[in-house]
Amino acid sequence: MHGLTETEARLRDAAREVAREAAAQAAATDRAEQYPWAMVRRMTEAGFMGLTIPQEWGGRGLSYFDAVLVIEEFAKACAVCGRIAVEANIGAIGAIMAYGTPTQKRIAADLVLAGDKPAILITEPEAGSAATDMRTRAVRHGNDWVIDGDKTWITGGGVSRLHLVFARVVEDGEEKGIGGFIVVRGGDGMPAGMTAERIPSMGLRGMPEANVAMRGLVVPDAMVLRPPGGWARGFGRLMDAYNGQRVGAATAALGIAAGAYDHALERAQTRRQFGRPIGEFQGLAWMLADMSIDLEASRALVWRAARSAGPNGFPDRLAAAQAKVMAADAAIRVTNQALQVWGAAGYSRDNPMERFVRDARMFAIAGGTAQVLRTQVAEQIMGRKLPQTREGFVRVVEEERG
Ligand code: FAD
Repeated sequence: MHGLTETEARLRDAAREVAREAAAQAAATDRAEQYPWAMVRRMTEAGFMGLTIPQEWGGRGLSYFDAVLVIEEFAKACAVCGRIAVEANIGAIGAIMAYGTPTQKRIAADLVLAGDKPAILITEPEAGSAATDMRTRAVRHGNDWVIDGDKTWITGGGVSRLHLVFARVVEDGEEKGIGGFIVVRGGDGMPAGMTAERIPSMGLRGMPEANVAMRGLVVPDAMVLRPPGGWARGFGRLMDAYNGQRVGAATAALGIAAGAYDHALERAQTRRQFGRPIGEFQGLAWMLADMSIDLEASRALVWRAARSAGPNGFPDRLAAAQAKVMAADAAIRVTNQALQVWGAAGYSRDNPMERFVRDARMFAIAGGTAQVLRTQVAEQIMGRKLPQTREGFVRVVEEERG
């Protein structure tokens, strides 16, 4: 289907096979609100962690597109497993494999191939959409950097071993820009100077979200991720890598929606009212049709964005933003419609429909909200900056006036 090569179809089918086991434990993971360690071990053994890590570093050297095929299958079965597949294949790991030193690549590849889902630490309590307002500082002291600051909504905080921390770089008493710092948690608790406190969340309850505090966290200079172009352009280059994460998040949203749709399609044809399958009622038939259209449109944009990545590059910024907005908004619509098809049974926690609704909700918020990404799309289609600060806006107006 959809023009997959034989190799791609085989990879998707292999993921679908393991994802059946993920589906069997998804409800228990949600109820226990515990990270699904056993399933992660299974995904690791089956080779679904570190798919995009080049072969020279022990990975499978597969493409973003291959990763997307795998992520959709896991997200359809178990949203938490889908998100693990995102972060173990694209995102922070992509940034480190692109910009890291050989030592950094070795550390990151070994951790992910052994089953770690890396964490990326950008958001702060006072710097959400305005991420460059971050206050976390990394101050150079000889061969070390000392980091102080607070991050919030950190996915995997407390379970991830590999952390990519974004901080303002202060060298020789001067602020140079925003850089990335690699912090590794050992097997026995958080690193000295770093603590994680869980945030109770609406959906994806098996995946911890955390407030992460850093107080005098010491990072050796060898663990600084220096993107090409220097500190001043550091944030932009690190965010280029984040376009991969966006495509991954869009795929997870797509997978959750597809999972809900499959259940709704089946229910519409088996549940009878007024002596007929409920799917014969036009109200539901058209709802199912709309759901299928949303899914196909999301998949088309996700695949286009994933395929826009060159062998060593990241997905195209515009394509990634368009895919994420489409898939995130569609997942909210489709999961709600799927629950509606199920009626009261869909509202029960004995069925997965309410979980699909909760799990889908985050994708229009995390990794760039649906509003902020629409502005990015608008900037690119109009070929002009749309500054979001009042001063920036006034500057552009003044420049236009001459
Ligand atoms: P705010 O920026 O306060 O925005 C509030 C509202 O205002 C939103 O609707 C937003 O769209 C709107 N808004 C803000 N500015 C504008 C604007 N200029 N134009 C139009 N509308 C605007 N962060 C990490 O660093 N690492 C993670 O692993 C991570 N995981 C996450 C997981 C989950 C489940 C969630 C919910 C969040 C996660 N985040 C993570 C944080 C996420 O990236 C931020 O929540 C997001 O960037 C938005 O920031 P905010 O929540 O502070 O919202």
